[in-house]
Amino acid sequence: MKRAFKYRFYPTDAQAAELSRTFGCVRKVYNLALAARTEAWTRQERVNYNATSAMLTAWKKTEELAYLAEVSSVPLQQALRHLQTAFSNFFGKRAKYPRFKSRKKSRKSAEYTTSAFRFRDGKLTLAKMAEPLDIVWSRPLPEGVSPSTVTVSQDAAGRWHVSLLCEDPSVKPLSAASAAVGIDVGLDHLLTLSTGEKIANPRHERRDRARLAKAQRQLARKTRGDGANRAKARRKAARVYARITDRRRDHLHRLTTRLVRENQTIVIEDLTVRNMVKNRSLARAISDAAWSDFRSMLEYKARWYGREVIAVDRWFPSSRLCSACGTVQDRMPLHVRTWTCDCGTTHDRDVNAAKNILAVGLTASVCGAGVRPQRSTPGGQSAMKQKTPRREP
Ligand SMILES: [Zn+2]
Repeated sequence: MKRAFKYRFYPTDAQAAELSRTFGCVRKVYNLALAARTEAWTRQERVNYNATSAMLTAWKKTEELAYLAEVSSVPLQQALRHLQTAFSNFFGKRAKYPRFKSRKKSRKSAEYTTSAFRFRDGKLTLAKMAEPLDIVWSRPLPEGVSPSTVTVSQDAAGRWHVSLLCEDPSVKPLSAASAAVGIDVGLDHLLTLSTGEKIANPRHERRDRARLAKAQRQLARKTRGDGANRAKARRKAARVYARITDRRRDHLHRLTTRLVRENQTIVIEDLTVRNMVKNRSLARAISDAAWSDFRSMLEYKARWYGREVIAVDRWFPSSRLCSACGTVQDRMPLHVRTWTCDCGTTHDRDVNAAKNILAVGLTASVCGAGVRPQRSTPGGQSAMKQKTPRREP
């Protein structure tokens, strides 16, 4: 199983300069190729990876872009591959149209494949560098593994990280579990499980968010002319933001590991970016990238451990449907947190939704992937009704 191991490292001045130059070239190549592909697309033509690779060779020969030949060519090729993936996702309707990378806002990173680094005796040396990176091995790499891909990045707070993608033989499937769980993304809680458990946001999230808002206000007050103080305010805001995302990732890692260990089947909603944008309050609650992080962690851990993650469409009325009897309520305003069905069952809104999500997911997995369960109507027969265990009032 492939697995990424991420560490901090401290570059020498020469290494930092080389990497910053490489990040700049990666961004430049990505943007040039995106512009070329966009221009072709408006003429109803498609430019593929090979065509952009040929363009890169030509760009390096021009006087204006000759500097692209000074850094390792591998990260530049990888940028073109990433762009190819972004276009595949766009054409497959899984993502929006690729966007240009901005100097200030985009993630600074460069990806090296085996021909562009040397990993020997626990020391990693990148192309165009004389010395190995000074990596803080906060946890050991598993015995005998070596990376197939190395990604170097610098975050907005100025910290350097290196991520080593390795084949990890120590990851083995867990013995089968019988439990299954449905997960609802809530407004007051991060997640609600079909078992009735509610999972809150990380403890410090609210306070950190207040700090971030303050740092951002201070940054906004600094005028353009005040360069040094503005840069300082920006770094401060970036540090607060980095702390929020680090804590959230920790939280999500612990949570997803637990869910995957305890359950054989995990059913989640298929919240695509598209739908999230439509539903603003939901988008705010799921704050930033937390949901997609959560989903990808769940999915790769499920693959490691031989579990199943099912994503169901959220087209069905998960909040208005009684998970005990299958009746659908006409309306269910957002402020209603608990309600009692005509059948006598009192529901917590989010727990009920999570139960319905679980039922739909289990039906879909029995019917085979891609089969949508029947829509439930009041008093009518439905797949959901039969699959949902009746809860005594
Ligand atoms: Zn009912």
